[in-house]
Amino acid sequence: MAEQQEKTIELPASTTVRDLAEKINASPIDIIKVLMANGVMANINQQIDFDTAAIVAAELGFEATLEVIDQIETEDLGEIALWRRLIADEDEADLVRRPPVVTILGHVDHGKTSLLDSIRSTSVQEGEYGGITQHISAYQIEHNGKTISFLDTPGHAAFTAMRSRGAQGADIVILVVAADDGVMPQTKEALNHAKAAQVPIIVALNKIDKQNANPDRVKQQLAEVGLVPDEWDGDTIVVPVSATEKIGLEDLLEAILLVADNIEILANPAGKLIGTVIEAERDKAKGVMATVLVQNGTLQVGDTLIAGLSHGRIRAMFDFRGEPIEEAGPSTPISVMGLNDVPNAGDLVRRVDSDKVARVIVAEREERAKDARIGQQRPVTLETMFERFQEGQMRELRLIIKADVQGSLEPIVSSLQEMSASDEEGKIRVNILHSATGNISESDIDLAAASQAIVMGFNVQADEAARVTADREGVSIRFYNIIYRLTEDVEKALKGMLAPEEVITVVGRAEVRALFKIPKTGFIAGCRVIEGEILRNAQIRVLRNDNLIYEGDISSLKHEKDDVREVRAGFECGIALRGFDAFEEGDILECFTRKLVKAI
Ligand code: GDP
Repeated sequence: MAEQQEKTIELPASTTVRDLAEKINASPIDIIKVLMANGVMANINQQIDFDTAAIVAAELGFEATLEVIDQIETEDLGEIALWRRLIADEDEADLVRRPPVVTILGHVDHGKTSLLDSIRSTSVQEGEYGGITQHISAYQIEHNGKTISFLDTPGHAAFTAMRSRGAQGADIVILVVAADDGVMPQTKEALNHAKAAQVPIIVALNKIDKQNANPDRVKQQLAEVGLVPDEWDGDTIVVPVSATEKIGLEDLLEAILLVADNIEILANPAGKLIGTVIEAERDKAKGVMATVLVQNGTLQVGDTLIAGLSHGRIRAMFDFRGEPIEEAGPSTPISVMGLNDVPNAGDLVRRVDSDKVARVIVAEREERAKDARIGQQRPVTLETMFERFQEGQMRELRLIIKADVQGSLEPIVSSLQEMSASDEEGKIRVNILHSATGNISESDIDLAAASQAIVMGFNVQADEAARVTADREGVSIRFYNIIYRLTEDVEKALKGMLAPEEVITVVGRAEVRALFKIPKTGFIAGCRVIEGEILRNAQIRVLRNDNLIYEGDISSLKHEKDDVREVRAGFECGIALRGFDAFEEGDILECFTRKLVKAI
């Protein structure tokens, strides 16, 4: 027996007991027995990870190696947009110019939607929308024989969603500013999003038809935030327009083409397929419909795609008019039918060889997402940034500063800027991405998540939605009420001298499906784990319509009738909490751990 040569097998990152048994020609019962001997309770359909499977295989005389699939997965969703890197892999000789992709940002009511509508209606001929049955959140127009693609998702939520996943959604940002209202808080926010993404900005000075429009005052305000109009020798193109009166639209399109001509907007239509999900939903009749922007390569009906945790073979594809098409090249927005699940806005779309490969990659991604939640993920915090800096992963400390009043914001910002200037060795730079008065909002967190920044609040609070998003995205928020403490912390962080901090990591989510009354104990939530896992020793946050209802310890975790230590995604469980039992169906129970992150 000892002499026997070990046989080798390849296993994916995650496999079922049944599949493993088949691979090594053993009975599933044998596998389950070995698992039990190793303290793992599993049924025949249970997914086990590679490490566990390898141990089992070893006991049964097989040496397991991790299955290598075409390494689509070398992605490190860091700062550099993946698609940029992939395009950089393309042979320069194959690259051709593609139409620019434009997105419109700006303050609420300044006319983003009106502008998108009026560009669409003047440039896309009447009646062309005949066959539309599906709203698609992007469109294309022709101007002077050149194509421009517009993302029809005003507001920066979609824009940052893309960036936070490493994709660059747009090539050019149109910042809409109403001439009667001027630069407002969301104008600045939008500006900072565009700057952080290093995307060129064109200002559309809208509503110039209004009597109280004051373009000069607005230009002055624009100059104050660093957008010096070209007519004042600056380098920002400012185009006066009226969305409702259709004034200046031609000039705006001209400006877009001009800016586009000056930047390298390239792709290889015959290259690797790269796309980004702009929006997706489940349609009752058609199944999952996803609006995808193709960025490189050419997508064809029949291709198998993978987008985030969803995959599928493309059964049909529609252009922005709702007309069926067979293929779509770079910068084309399309609506695709055939994914098995709804992907997230911002998910990268890639083509794979077969459904089997797609399933393996998704299993691996799920596994990795879980690992990330369980601790390998390293959120950017003041405590860890120095370490990351030393490892060469970060070059600057990015901050978003929110304060109660302008009077406290200014001294904070200027002393942080000074600190950066006086850092003689020029090692770590402080980069304030955004500073404003008011509470910390979800949009601040989106910006921080997309840019790996830390949010600091002075005499302000974080909105509920901001807190939830920060937890989910691993964004660090710090609160202060003494200016000196804030600047001191930043200074210490720059030198790597900060004390440990508690980091909260979300490990899973369960949805309450039913309630059970247990005499003496109260109500127990009958749940299905929808993501990650629920750990007996972790804590739970009860969320109802995204509002935090309760936070506390688990007092009992059961799977069927047994007390268990953990329950994974896809399984049912019963959860009782210490000190709370007013669950409602539909509540989300978010399971999280607390850990001290060591300073160095
Ligand atoms: P959004 O919130 O930025 O998408 O703004 P909307 O496009 O919804 O526009 C807000 C309001 O401003 C609407 O009542 C529009 O009719 C109006 N509006 C938009 N553009 C113009 C314009 O150029 N001139 C005038 N007078 N009103 C406009």
